[in-house]
Amino acid sequence: MTAHVNSKVLAVLDPHHVSSVMKSTSTFAGGYPVPGPQSPTVATAMNKDCFVDENTWRLIAENGEFDDIVVGSGFCALAYIDEALRLDPFRKILLLERGGFWLPDHFQNLPLPFQFVSHDVSETFPWELTSETVKGNLYLNGSSPFFGGRSSFWSIWSPHAIGKRASTDTDTVDPENEKTRDKFNLMDGFPKFMKEIAKKPHFYKDAERLLHVKPANKIEDPVYKSVLQKQFDRYLRSALDDGPVDIPGALCTEPARLATGVPIGLPTQGFRQFSVVGSLLSINEWQNKLARQNPPAGSPIMIATDVVIERFEVEGPGGKPTHARVLHTSRGPLTLRGGKTNVILATGAIPATTILLNSLDETLKIRARTSGPLLVNPTGKRITSHFRSQVKARFKPGDDWVQEDAEANVPQDVALQLVGDEALALPTDRPVVSASHLRGRDENNGNLQWHIQIHGTHIPVGYHGRGLSVEEKARLYSRLFTSLAPDNGDTLTPEQAENSDGYVLVSCSVLGEHPKGTPSQIELNQSNPDVTTNIRLHLDLHTTSSSALPKDSAIKLWKTMEESTYDPFGYPAK
Ligand SMILES: Cc1cc2nc3c(=O)[nH]c(=O)nc-3n(C[C@H](O)[C@H](O)[C@H](O)COP(=O)(O)OP(=O)(O)OC[C@H]3O[C@@H](n4cnc5c(N)ncnc54)[C@H](O)[C@@H]3O)c2cc1C
Repeated sequence: MTAHVNSKVLAVLDPHHVSSVMKSTSTFAGGYPVPGPQSPTVATAMNKDCFVDENTWRLIAENGEFDDIVVGSGFCALAYIDEALRLDPFRKILLLERGGFWLPDHFQNLPLPFQFVSHDVSETFPWELTSETVKGNLYLNGSSPFFGGRSSFWSIWSPHAIGKRASTDTDTVDPENEKTRDKFNLMDGFPKFMKEIAKKPHFYKDAERLLHVKPANKIEDPVYKSVLQKQFDRYLRSALDDGPVDIPGALCTEPARLATGVPIGLPTQGFRQFSVVGSLLSINEWQNKLARQNPPAGSPIMIATDVVIERFEVEGPGGKPTHARVLHTSRGPLTLRGGKTNVILATGAIPATTILLNSLDETLKIRARTSGPLLVNPTGKRITSHFRSQVKARFKPGDDWVQEDAEANVPQDVALQLVGDEALALPTDRPVVSASHLRGRDENNGNLQWHIQIHGTHIPVGYHGRGLSVEEKARLYSRLFTSLAPDNGDTLTPEQAENSDGYVLVSCSVLGEHPKGTPSQIELNQSNPDVTTNIRLHLDLHTTSSSALPKDSAIKLWKTMEESTYDPFGYPAK
């Protein structure tokens, strides 16, 4: 009998042990000498080159020794693995993901039918909400338990969480804008060391390289490079400069930073939504190449899907725990040999807290609260979040938005050359898209922070045409709102889009800061036997214990956010 062993396992495991396992030689090429296996599955296809199969898993469980075990395969996993291997390509890394391989790319980059595979279809909720939380009418976004995590569905807006300008900003920087921008801090309550890291000069530069982030006015794609972006940016700036529009509390604005991914060609040239899947598999492939060199120039990554991490056990000299000794998984226990393996819980904040709560006894939880810099402090005692509102509108652009200009009708391929001051009009032959970002504070409500992601689309007159088939209409809609939109979740329905030729459509996602002192907690729910969901989550946005804020400050902020969004978009229609 032969057993297939993923060849790269040899580089990671003890060679003496592996040599006792027989390796497959037969590939049944071309149906000779027998037809060979007839029912490949997604898992068997992916396991061949990218992920570990059953035999390899067995070897890892029996014999694997790793520098890092990364749990989860979303942004957090990508960032850790990218940086760890940049510092040392020989690091031995095992990635464990609870889900399987599903979408190879962000769902908006996939063919038309995948637009129906939106986040809610695959969203899971690995928690139980308390009755008080539900009474507050809260909906919490869930988890995406597949390879790539939520990155296959997210909305690619990538603002900086903490002041400071990125080194990618150049000409458009306004000194006044800069002063206010530095006052923003969406990391309030985060551990100090994390805030310090985010302030380092290269932090955002590296993060933006990893996610291919670009300001919307620099995206080299004809649908983004139009006067629409300039008009929105100019218009929003006028709210800060005592112009004709006043947005209460607005402090700074900029072309939105979007994670545009690596362009691959049509239907768009320089724009697509970034997902982690391609990047993780590319790093995997790169490490395979390094490992195959003679002598090897790096170690391969081992990626195992369909493995749920349940909890871990710790040990250390004199009963003082210093490291994890075993990970309990849905595919059996994994022993962490040598006491030097880092376990990185890149599972999203709430699943990571669930794992910690199920792993640490009371003494350790207290220790984690007081001394462990890398453990949540205190575990499960406070949830940070932002809340979100959506506002959609459309307006017929006035003369200052649409100017009669022959250059507006230049073909798409030369449009990119006409985006300086020359391009003054909205194109009449194709839709164009913009993305802007506006930040403000609620001055009468503890200066709580809000920000608006503004996505504009101009559909030229006659774009949808008469007599188009249903499929043709669906394709046009898909191109506009699936392939090109930064945020598919906030767009219009096909019916609304069809009746909007000649309009500028605006969809705004408004996000507000969750006030200090908001009652929130995660507690173990011992009656649930599933250790990955045995928690109760409590969040009450209707009150706050902070004496510096009104009791209902979140609800007040919510109202301010909506007013700051509704009011300004009445103006350009005039
Ligand atoms: C619809 C939507 C739109 C969004 N838009 C934006 C946006 O525009 N800008 C922005 O900055 N953020 C946005 N977000 C949030 C952003 O997507 C998340 O903050 C980010 O994806 C979190 O990355 P992560 O790696 O921490 O976790 P995740 O992406 O959740 O990845 C965690 C992975 O861990 C796996 N896992 C969980 N538990 C276990 C376990 N016990 N064992 C093994 N594996 C496990 C999961 O299956 C998952 O693959 C959006 C989110 C959603 C849902």
